[in-house]
Amino acid sequence: MIAAEFGSTPWGRAWVRSVAAIAASGPNALLPRARTLARNHAVELTTEPGRIEARVSAADAVQPVHIDVPLWSPQTQAQVRRLLEKSLAEHPVLIAGDLSDSFEADLRQEGIPVAAGLDELRAECACRSRKRPCVHILATLYALAQQIDERPALAVGLRGGATDPVAPPLPGWIALTALDPVAFYGD
Ligand SMILES: [Zn+2]
Repeated sequence: MIAAEFGSTPWGRAWVRSVAAIAASGPNALLPRARTLARNHAVELTTEPGRIEARVSAADAVQPVHIDVPLWSPQTQAQVRRLLEKSLAEHPVLIAGDLSDSFEADLRQEGIPVAAGLDELRAECACRSRKRPCVHILATLYALAQQIDERPALAVGLRGGATDPVAPPLPGWIALTALDPVAFYGD
């Protein structure tokens, strides 16, 4: 079986489904264009908890894109951490940044969404298109799904969840979930 280009893991697939939901009411011509941009490495992407920053090169212009992603609540983050520890005990991952498919299934079973819906995102792009989300925002989300497929821990970190350290906590280590979530929002 050939791995899906976008969403080859359940982690990336969750985000691909969120993006594809835009086509539920009818075909959206921007989706194939957005996939082409992501496929051709037109998207430079960085992420931090609750935020995606991208520069999308399209039609001889570079568009900066910012997307705010809602963090899980502190309670959910703590629940994710507990599920992660249980999952790692049963299915240790050998590669940094990897998470098992079964852990994603655990989250789904608990009703914890890995991806946010498009309507939950606050996305900005500098382009002049009146259509929102524009092709640059959609391309950013496809590129995100690709990065998450390569490094599933990114999906958890983006929602504010802690995935490190996978080894037993060091003395003095502070769980990310113990930090004041307000600090993540900045400003
Ligand atoms: Zn745009």
